[in-house]
Amino acid sequence: MKIGIIGAGITGLTAGKVLAEAGHSVMIYEQGAFAGGRMASMTVNQWTADIGLPYFKSTSPEYKDFLEELASKNILREWKGDTYRYDEGKKERLPDEELLYIAEGGMMPVADSLGRWLDIRFHEKIGGITKIASSQTKKSPWMINSSRIEVFPADAVILAVPAVQAYGLVSTAQDELPLRKMVSVLDEISYSACCSFVAVYENAAMPDWKLLRSKHPVVSMITNESSKRETGKDVVLVGQTSSEYTHRMQEAFDGSVHNKEIKKALSEMLGPWAGKPAHFETRHWKFKGPKKKLEGHYLESDDETAPFAVAGDFFQGVPFETAYLSGLRLGKDWAERFS
Ligand SMILES: Cc1cc2nc3c(=O)[nH]c(=O)nc-3n(C[C@H](O)[C@H](O)[C@H](O)COP(=O)(O)OP(=O)(O)OC[C@H]3O[C@@H](n4cnc5c(N)ncnc54)[C@H](O)[C@@H]3O)c2cc1C
Repeated sequence: MKIGIIGAGITGLTAGKVLAEAGHSVMIYEQGAFAGGRMASMTVNQWTADIGLPYFKSTSPEYKDFLEELASKNILREWKGDTYRYDEGKKERLPDEELLYIAEGGMMPVADSLGRWLDIRFHEKIGGITKIASSQTKKSPWMINSSRIEVFPADAVILAVPAVQAYGLVSTAQDELPLRKMVSVLDEISYSACCSFVAVYENAAMPDWKLLRSKHPVVSMITNESSKRETGKDVVLVGQTSSEYTHRMQEAFDGSVHNKEIKKALSEMLGPWAGKPAHFETRHWKFKGPKKKLEGHYLESDDETAPFAVAGDFFQGVPFETAYLSGLRLGKDWAERFS
């Protein structure tokens, strides 16, 4: 079966890998230049910083196996201890968390290890999908429409994008009755937003923590990237704004005020040095994590002649693991059913 997957994040890559291994012809369409989606790193002043998902937390057995496999290939390594909480001017050490893993070489090698054997068309934003009426002679029941007029035929389609974006894509084909039901389910899911920032300090004293969870009204957490990987004499911190602040900022501030507010928050939390980074970059995320979650692992049309499914992080569980398991279960179920 020729399967078109939209989105090369953890969901699309995982489903694609399982289905390609089962002998299907898989093509992933990705609007960006890289695979990984919200599992993302960026380079600031030559140092790698994880600006999306900050670390991997080992939980369910299937997900643990995936993390352990990546660790055995030296793509992930354990990242233990030294977690603190910041609250009203005080820093308090938290008991050691369950096992966390980080990607020492950044998130790209994680995505590459999943996508190595997959065909991925980058810079290919999909604008819609069309179901071809069964009475027509065309062989493939689906047409995937790129935003650049091109059209790709497929026997089956998987949307592996945030639910809000999936809603937009499913709506383009909603004359189809089974998909119309899906649209109303997806319509209920919204996402919290955040702004990630990378702050690089030259010759600053190395913080004694690796992860700072925070109740500060502006900054909700900071990771010390220098505890993940070599950063020379620089200290590299990555943080996220709180959802309340992000919401307020979206309505009230422009970008420059926003940067000033984050730096002010950093100096309140860590000391005056932290308010004056040598390099500072931000990235806004519209879809950090889903606010409402559905039961199950994926949504599926009941038309077996034109398989169609929506998978992603908007099911019960923590978002990244849920996205992985959504792609895995969908891939395994389809591999068994459409062999
Ligand atoms: C700052 C931040 C911190 C996070 N922290 C945590 C955490 O601590 N724990 C946790 O569990 N989760 C966390 N998450 C959430 C986690 O990263 C996501 O749940 C997970 O990565 C989702 O993977 P996905 O493949 O479903 O979606 P994505 O990673 O969003 O992948 C979807 C892909 O589809 C592409 N795409 C979208 N629309 C189109 C289109 N029309 N055409 C072509 N391509 C398209 C996108 O470019 C993207 O690459 C965090 C996310 C962010 C942003």
